[in-house]
Amino acid sequence: PVRVRFAPSPTGPLHIGGVRTALFNYLFAKKHNGVFFLRIEDTDQNRFVAGAEHYIFEALEWLGISPDETVNKNEKFGPYRQSERKAIYKQYADQLINSGWAYYAFDTAEALDLHRKQHEEQGKTFIYNWHNREKLDTSLVLSKEETDRRIASGEDFVIRFKTPVNEVLELKDIIRGDIKFDTNLLDDKVLFKSDGMPTYHLANIVDDHLMETSHVIRGEEWLPSLPLHSLLYQAFGWESPEFAHLPLILKPIGNGKLSKRDGDKMGFPVFPLEWKTDEGISSGYREKGYFPEAVINFLALLGWNDGTDQELFSLDELVEKFDLNRVHKAGAKFDPEKNKWFNHQYLQQQSDESLVDAFKKMIVDKTGKCDFSFIEMTKIVSLIKERANFVSDFWELADYFFEAPTSYDEKASKNWKPETPDLMKQVIEVLESIEDFTSLNIETLLKEWMTTNEIGMGKVMQPLRLSLVGALKGPHLFDIIEMIGKDETVKRIDKAIN
Ligand code: GLU
Repeated sequence: PVRVRFAPSPTGPLHIGGVRTALFNYLFAKKHNGVFFLRIEDTDQNRFVAGAEHYIFEALEWLGISPDETVNKNEKFGPYRQSERKAIYKQYADQLINSGWAYYAFDTAEALDLHRKQHEEQGKTFIYNWHNREKLDTSLVLSKEETDRRIASGEDFVIRFKTPVNEVLELKDIIRGDIKFDTNLLDDKVLFKSDGMPTYHLANIVDDHLMETSHVIRGEEWLPSLPLHSLLYQAFGWESPEFAHLPLILKPIGNGKLSKRDGDKMGFPVFPLEWKTDEGISSGYREKGYFPEAVINFLALLGWNDGTDQELFSLDELVEKFDLNRVHKAGAKFDPEKNKWFNHQYLQQQSDESLVDAFKKMIVDKTGKCDFSFIEMTKIVSLIKERANFVSDFWELADYFFEAPTSYDEKASKNWKPETPDLMKQVIEVLESIEDFTSLNIETLLKEWMTTNEIGMGKVMQPLRLSLVGALKGPHLFDIIEMIGKDETVKRIDKAIN
C-alpha cells in the first residue's frame, strides 16, 4: 500500500517549495488510495522555532491538504514528532555499531579544522570518511578498549556511518531515472550524538522504515543524501522505499533557487500564510487574497503538467491526473504574474453573492458606511469582477460607486471642450426628466436625445464618464448611472461643470 510522508523541520514558516512537496505527496497518496502522513522532524533543537509547527498545520489545512495521520490525528505509528521518539533511535545506532556499519568518533572541532586546512593546502576538499582517517592520522582510529574507555569517562562522541570504500552505487529515482554515486566522494555522516539525539539522517531512515513509508517524495536538495539513505537501508537490512526528488523552484528572473529575498524584492509572497517576527512581517498568499484553490493550482504546475495545454485543475482533478512519471527533471520557474492570473480565474468562478460580505466590509472600512443593499452590491460585483484579480482590487475598480471623484484624470480631461459644460447641462435636463431610472431606459432616452439633436456620441459619453467616475474606466456607463441614482448623478455632473 502507498504510504507517503511530508517531513518538515519546524525551523520557520513553511516555504512555498515545502508546500509543493506536501502537495505532491498528498496527490500521490490520494491517487493511489494511500495514506499521506506528516512527521515533524525536530531533532535539531538549536534550530527549533516556536510557532513553526502550528504554522505548518494551519497552512495545509487552509489549502485543504491536511495529512491523514500526524500529531494528534490517527497516530497509528506515533508519536509523529521525532523529539518524542528519542528513546527509539539509540538502539538503531547501536545496531549499526555492532554490525560494523558505524563507529564512534571523538574528533574535536579543532582536529577537524586541521584536517580541512591540510587538505585545502593541497588543493583538495576534505572528505571525512573512514578511509581518509586511516590514511591521514592513524591516531584517530581507536581500539575497542580505547573507545569504551573514552565513552565511560564521559567524553563527547558522535556515531558516524562507515561508508564503504570504492563502490559505485547505482540508484533509481522515479523522476531522475538511474543515478550513479561514487562512495569515495561521500562523507561519513554523523548519525547520533552524545547528547542522545539522532541526526536527521538516522531518524529519517528509522522512522520511514517504522512508519512503513512506501515512497519518499521530497525536494531535489535532498538528492545528495540519497546514497547515504540507500546505504542505511542496506546496512539495516530493510527494504528501501522508492525515491522521487522534485525539481527546484527557480527565481522568476535570472537563475537559481527561489528565495525569500526574491519575494521581498519583487513584492510577492513566498509563504502560504503571513509570518510575523520581531524583525517584521513576511506576507502570505492567504493574506494577499489568494484563493487556496488558486495556490494549489499554480503549485501543482511547478514541475508537473498532464501533457495537455490544460492549466486550470481542481484538487480532485489533480488527484485523478497526477503522475510522478510526468514530473520534470528541470527546475520550474516561479511566475508571480501567472499566479495572479490563476487567482483571477478562480475569482471569476465565485458567485457574485459570495463576495458581497467581504466587499461590503471593505467599503465600510474605506468610507465609514455602505448604503447599498445586498442586491445592489451583488450587481456591482457582477459589473467589476471580470477586471479583478483579487477581492481587494474591488475598491479601486468600484470606488466611484461609493464616493464622488475628488480629481479627474488629466489625460481624459482633454476631451472636456469649451462646449462641454453646456452639453452637460442639457444632459442633466434629460436625466431629470427620466421617470423609470434604469440602465436600459436611460441609455435609450439619452441616445434618442443625441440623435434628435445631432450630437456626436463621443462629445457626450466621455465627459459624462469623466464627471461620474473621474477617469475613463469602469463598466457600461448606464449601469453606473442607474446604480448611483439620479440625484448623485446630477450632483456629480454639476460639480464637474463648475
Ligand atoms: N526534515 C527534512 C526537511 O526539512 C525532510 C527531508 C526528507 O523528506 O527526507 O525537509
